[in-house]
Amino acid sequence: MSLPTIVIVGGGAGGLALATQLGRKLGKPERANVVLLDRNTTHVWKPLLHELATGVLNSSMDEVDYRGHSSAHHYRYQRGSLSGIDRQAKQLHLAPIVDEQGEEVLPARQLGYDYLVMALGSVSNDFGTPGVAEHCHFIDSPQQAKAFQRDMINTFLRYTDPSLRQHPQLTIGIVGGGATGVELAAELFDASRMLNAYGVTATDHQQISVHLLEAAPRLLPGLSERISQTVQQELEGMGVTVHVGTAIKEAQASCLVTGDDDVIETDLNVWAAGIKAPPFLAEQGLSTNNKNQIKVAKTLQSVDDPAIFALGDCADCPQGDDSAVPPRAQAAHQQAKHLVKNLVNQLEGKPLADFRYRDHGSLVSLARYDAVGSLMRSSASRGLFLEGWLARRAYASLYRMHQLSIHGAPKTGLAWLVDKLNRYLKPRMKLH
Ligand SMILES: Cc1cc2nc3c(=O)[nH]c(=O)nc-3n(C[C@H](O)[C@H](O)[C@H](O)COP(=O)(O)OP(=O)(O)OC[C@H]3O[C@@H](n4cnc5c(N)ncnc54)[C@H](O)[C@@H]3O)c2cc1C
Repeated sequence: MSLPTIVIVGGGAGGLALATQLGRKLGKPERANVVLLDRNTTHVWKPLLHELATGVLNSSMDEVDYRGHSSAHHYRYQRGSLSGIDRQAKQLHLAPIVDEQGEEVLPARQLGYDYLVMALGSVSNDFGTPGVAEHCHFIDSPQQAKAFQRDMINTFLRYTDPSLRQHPQLTIGIVGGGATGVELAAELFDASRMLNAYGVTATDHQQISVHLLEAAPRLLPGLSERISQTVQQELEGMGVTVHVGTAIKEAQASCLVTGDDDVIETDLNVWAAGIKAPPFLAEQGLSTNNKNQIKVAKTLQSVDDPAIFALGDCADCPQGDDSAVPPRAQAAHQQAKHLVKNLVNQLEGKPLADFRYRDHGSLVSLARYDAVGSLMRSSASRGLFLEGWLARRAYASLYRMHQLSIHGAPKTGLAWLVDKLNRYLKPRMKLH
């Protein structure tokens, strides 16, 4: 009898943890074929992308190669980009993969499944704002983060020659005062100091200007007022100009235009305002919400098709209070853990359990200057406010927990040691 095939689409924060644990539970004892499909060949944990974008993180150190990882963890990796689902035939349509020159690397193909887990994350939501697609960087993938870094270094270099300067000050506009925008703003100040220290540019941090623009009345609207006030004070202390209650109605090559027709001159724009799931998800005959997220029941099964599960940013999963589970790495991680149990139960013909999200709090990193956030002691508590050294340690532990779920304890311990050693051996910033 042939083994059932479980295909996980997307090896991100949730999908890679799920593939690793299912590989051990079902792949190793040959109870199921576990297949991980991702359009990339390597995994970088998404909350690190702002560090990759500023060069503070050298991705080669933190990238996980799917092929090597899959062979060590008893699942099969397939490179491919999902473009559609034939639910009757239980087949996935994979788009051809082309290289940077447009040459085909892999042709269009089909991939069969018995159970499908959609874990393909989200992209930034430009809400159809004119000029954003053409004139703003997005930090949704390692490729986009690296493209921003190249552009940023070139812009810094240009400011060493007064004849190439477009504005008196090198100015970066970041649209979106959520965690991505806030963390990127702080990281840019750190990066500008380091660029100066490495002699890459004559620009010192006093000469760069960062505008952080948020449409809501305060930064980090999803977190407590105390966190958003503290973060705003810290950012302003560094020199970031924070604009709250400011929507952007248009992006141009060298400026952002606000809803009140104010023009903010910029050299580089980053769009980090809101998320949506990939648009093609809304065309698969599955119920989706207005952000293209697949509507799932509490068992994490699509409300239309019990053979299709979804987790993380691409899932619209209800919580008890009528709100949806938030798009966070900790939610994707908890859902992956829950799905391991539910998929094993599914194969054994046992009932599936409901998922319950536990908010363990939120931490925002302000580069190496600080971190601010709260840790929850219980879902009913208002959270323990943290800042400074303790918050920085708690923030760093989030990544270690992800590493633990995909590498196990011995390798995570070694990775920690290598990181410590590299602080002495390597420059703090990647400069190319
Ligand atoms: C800069 C930044 C900072 C963040 N900081 C935090 C934080 O501090 N704390 C927190 O909780 N959350 C944070 N987040 C949010 C967090 O990263 C996401 O909520 C989390 O990564 C979602 O996990 P996921 O598994 O759903 O998707 P992802 O981790 O995004 O993974 C999706 C995977 O799917 C693959 N994929 C996409 N489309 C296809 C396709 N068509 N075919 C095949 N493969 C595909 C991608 O290559 C990727 O590997 C941050 C996000 C950003 C961008």
